[in-house]
Amino acid sequence: MKRAYLFDIDGTLLKVQHKVNRKLIQRILERFGISHISVGNIDFAGKTDRDIFSDLLNQPEDELFHQVKQHYLQELERHLSAEDIHVFDGVHDSLDYLQKKTAWTGLLTGNFARAAKIKLDAIGLHERFRFGAFGDDHHDRNDLPPSAFEELVRKSGESFHPSDMVIIGDTPRDIECARSFGSVAIAVATGTYSHDELAACNPDVVLTSLTEFPEWIEGFTKKAGH
Ligand SMILES: [Mg+2]
Repeated sequence: MKRAYLFDIDGTLLKVQHKVNRKLIQRILERFGISHISVGNIDFAGKTDRDIFSDLLNQPEDELFHQVKQHYLQELERHLSAEDIHVFDGVHDSLDYLQKKTAWTGLLTGNFARAAKIKLDAIGLHERFRFGAFGDDHHDRNDLPPSAFEELVRKSGESFHPSDMVIIGDTPRDIECARSFGSVAIAVATGTYSHDELAACNPDVVLTSLTEFPEWIEGFTKKAGH
């Protein structure tokens, strides 16, 4: 029986240096004459990019939103390099493990699709993900799993059940969106939330880092009988 694994990006696979991403957003807002907001103190964890930008601009999506989004993506592409990104322990091994199992591996992230590609291309990992759901189309993270599921079924040509999807992320919002769709929820304590804070949200497991991922999956699939 097949399973599909969907990874969040920030706090789960990697961390973009705080100063790079925040500075970049601050600079763009200032370019558009928005200087009263300090991006440094805002909590972005688990939110979609669409949500973050429409909150920052404090208005519904209009021409300004689309201009700021385009500037952000262009600046990110121009300035982000591998040195600005820390890849968490266990990421490469986990992806190699899933590749050996020929599992469907995808992304479930609040990042705009192009931002996800820019970040993952910078560290040579983008090609490892075959499908996904992104923050372009949705405000609410809970809308991402159904959208990823639809793409999984379409691309694979196989039948899946929501419980065949394993969603891996670093925030209570990742756990909640997995639960809302009836998928397996794996939390990793590599982001801003502690092991205890994540455990309080009742995921299937909390891992200290993805170094524990292959072993946990081995045990989980054995227990499930497939
Ligand atoms: Mg995250």
